[in-house]
Amino acid sequence: MSDKANIGVTGLAVMGRNLARNLARNGQRVAVHNRHRERTDELINRFGNEGNFLATGSLRELVDTLERPRRLVIMVKAGDPTDAVIDELLPMLDTGDILVDAGNANFADTRRREAALADRGVHFVGAGVSGGEEGALHGPSIMPGGSPEAYRELEPILRSIAANVDGTPCVTHVGTDGAGHFVKMVHNGIEYADMQLIAETYDLLRRVLGLGPGEIAETFRRFNTGRLNSYLIEITAEVLGHVDSRTSLPFVDVVLDQAEQKGTGRWTVQNALELASPVTGIAEAVFARSISGQPRLREEASGLPGPSTEPVVDDPERFVDDVERALYASKIIAYAQGFDQIQAGSETYEWDIDLGAIATIWRGGCIIRAEFLDRIRAAYDQTSGRAGLLADDDFREALGEAQDSWRRVVAIATAAGVPVPGISTSLAYYDTVRAQRLPAALIQGQRDYFGAHTYRRTDLDGVFHTEWSVDRSEHEA
Ligand code: NDP
Repeated sequence: MSDKANIGVTGLAVMGRNLARNLARNGQRVAVHNRHRERTDELINRFGNEGNFLATGSLRELVDTLERPRRLVIMVKAGDPTDAVIDELLPMLDTGDILVDAGNANFADTRRREAALADRGVHFVGAGVSGGEEGALHGPSIMPGGSPEAYRELEPILRSIAANVDGTPCVTHVGTDGAGHFVKMVHNGIEYADMQLIAETYDLLRRVLGLGPGEIAETFRRFNTGRLNSYLIEITAEVLGHVDSRTSLPFVDVVLDQAEQKGTGRWTVQNALELASPVTGIAEAVFARSISGQPRLREEASGLPGPSTEPVVDDPERFVDDVERALYASKIIAYAQGFDQIQAGSETYEWDIDLGAIATIWRGGCIIRAEFLDRIRAAYDQTSGRAGLLADDDFREALGEAQDSWRRVVAIATAAGVPVPGISTSLAYYDTVRAQRLPAALIQGQRDYFGAHTYRRTDLDGVFHTEWSVDRSEHEA
């Protein structure tokens, strides 16, 4: 047997360490390295007996320890550190070697890096990895982009460490260059939307029905036995049921209500604007976190009056059912929007992404894992991946069946002064896309009035302009 390692990992903070352990536990001979040696030593001391590790003290030693073509995973802080590591590694690599960036890179950076390394004959694989530290250790969802040749070399290893659902590993070749990191970005955007919708549901149950966190935890546990069954609903019940040991108060009541973000949600929305892909659920979720993190604004606005009368909910059980339907319908919209963005990105950047395959690899390992993804996969199987999710009969039926409840929930939330930006924007999107006529016609009139931007007519071909300030005659532009 070769004394070389068949894969290397540099960057041994929580993610890299757990990924290296996962690789070693699954029979890979793993060379490990970290900028500061302590993390390498800690990995070997604590977990060295879990598998076949080779500790190395420098990138040079790491590279020399790998069999060819070298397979080397970079798991360092995203951004400049990734470039610094690539720059140091590149002179040591040979044609055909494969560098995998498994951090949370911006897909545009991945495209740039892939092109630069391809010029040097080195494969660069931007791989989205989801599932947090537990996922990295026990089986993440992996979204690799890059050349098909590089994927072929990596595939058996990636399949061995990925999460597995019904015998199918949660990994697929997403597409070339930045496709993997793009899909990971949208995954995180959807995650933002899903979390926001769940948080709004909690807020409604608490503020409209007056339920306590423990009771709401029970409600989410019940939701989790039905079609909403998912990791996020499961952990929501756990968090809501948790009691703070210092104060004996519900944990959720002692946590500062300012949600943080690392940037992938914001990137998703920025890119959606570029692609003109309306991910309104994700955008509201990102902005809701932004507002929560602005204490001065909130302090200044805190005296603004709320509703003068509170709505009375006569039938609390029916309201809980309504909320469950509103949550499910909003979730369908948020995911449909996210998948539409992937489709738009796939066309713009020429990736030819298989949307059904993406739903398949999100069924396990990642934060948004849920039974729901099976329904999305089935929908794309039927529509050959091109039509949006709202074209699917099952989702159409679910939305139709939920819509009265959805409207009641938004109406009650509005009357009660409880903000539901995610739920209400999803309903607005539903009503927008299903409308026979949109007020966009009026906007076209306004644009033509002040800027001679022209318009098209419903009854004639061609482009027209009205002489608004002269005699209001119309002519073809
Ligand atoms: P961090 O993002 O906290 O990064 C710390 C690691 O980066 C350490 O190994 C550190 O080395 C190394 N590093 C930082 N700067 C440099 C540099 N200039 N040169 C070389 N090494 C450097 O670690 P995480 O494990 O949390 O995340 C790793 C990657 O995985 C990130 O891209 C992150 O976004 C992504 N990710 C994280 C998830 C999570 O749940 N934490 C989930 C999914 C992806 P040293 O010890 O020497 O300082």
